[in-house]
Amino acid sequence: MSNLVIPMNDLKRSWVATSPRVRQEVISVLSSGHFVLGPRHEAFEHELAGFLGGGVEAVGVASGTDALRIALTAVGLRSSDRVLMATNAGGYAALAAAQIGCNLVFADCDSNSLLLTPSTIAAVIDDDISAVVVTHLYGNSVDVAGIKKLCEPLGIPIIEDCAQAIGGILSGVEPRAVGTLGDASCFSFYPTKNLGAAGDGGAVVSSRVDVLQAARALRQYGWNSRYEISCSGGANSRLDELQAAVLRVGLPLVGEFNERRRQIIDQYRNAVHGGALRLVTGSGVPTTAHLAVLQAPTASARARAREVMLGLGIATDVHYPIPDHLQSGLPKPVRVTALEVAERACETIISVPCFPDLTDHEITRVAEGLTQLSNRVS
Ligand SMILES: *Cc1c(COP(=O)(O)O)cnc(C)c1O
Repeated sequence: MSNLVIPMNDLKRSWVATSPRVRQEVISVLSSGHFVLGPRHEAFEHELAGFLGGGVEAVGVASGTDALRIALTAVGLRSSDRVLMATNAGGYAALAAAQIGCNLVFADCDSNSLLLTPSTIAAVIDDDISAVVVTHLYGNSVDVAGIKKLCEPLGIPIIEDCAQAIGGILSGVEPRAVGTLGDASCFSFYPTKNLGAAGDGGAVVSSRVDVLQAARALRQYGWNSRYEISCSGGANSRLDELQAAVLRVGLPLVGEFNERRRQIIDQYRNAVHGGALRLVTGSGVPTTAHLAVLQAPTASARARAREVMLGLGIATDVHYPIPDHLQSGLPKPVRVTALEVAERACETIISVPCFPDLTDHEITRVAEGLTQLSNRVS
């Protein structure tokens, strides 16, 4: 039965699992005896920076969450500093900030894109805030340039969380790449991301020399030179040579993968047109279509929608069901702010399968399911 269900993801079908070039590269790393911070890692850092453009350099790290923690530390955040972020972006930035001992402040999201915008940030920002993290959620591009206009006069650095948006174009200032406008930007190469490795991986990207230098020290014990711990807040968080080798094969393919994801989203958009479900992915902003997220009118409509899809053999998920400010394992926010739009989104959104290896037939089946739903659910 379960193999008849269209899954949210199936990494056995992916280029990582099937590419002969990946196999060759893995074997060549094994034979080289170079496993950590070797030539492939260095080459990948250069290739990622070149891919993004905008004068950035890249620092490979062990995961996207580590990238966020290292980026926040590298822009100067310390314990008790206040970080402003979205509450509906999966908890990753909140967790990274909490690891440093920072205090959390949340801004609400836009009801259309479900992203932070200049106006949702303007409602809560003041000079007590030491950094703003913006997440390009579902691949939807945040207007980083607009947010920078608010932050720059207050001297507040911006961190872009690009874990779901590699290869995307920023909202507002096209054709600038996602990850090239913030003081630091964070990428994850977790296997299901738009560029996924054969394990964990991440990167910090910046065009600021001080941030890059700090990030390079922080990923390796806080060393500025060998055995000299001169940068506080360091850890062991390196991107290993095997992952770098795999990522070098995948990086030139990201544009193609993202295009396929966008085609899937276009079919889903047509499928729900005029009905009760609305597509959040790509709604009014450029997107990498990392996730196909729809919004139902009510929480009970969302529950019914999930049941109907399951009955049709289509997996669904919710990204994400619990807003950060209600997570029991995260510190409580230090300021009460209005978060109604985000709270309602957590109760009404639903994700359906969207990955490049879905077959055309599967995409059509999901789209037909969505049309049925959109006409039924209210
Ligand atoms: C996946 C993800 C992360 C965390 O990346 P890991 O590599 O799993 O640590 C951070 N932010 C967002 C938005 C993500 O989707």
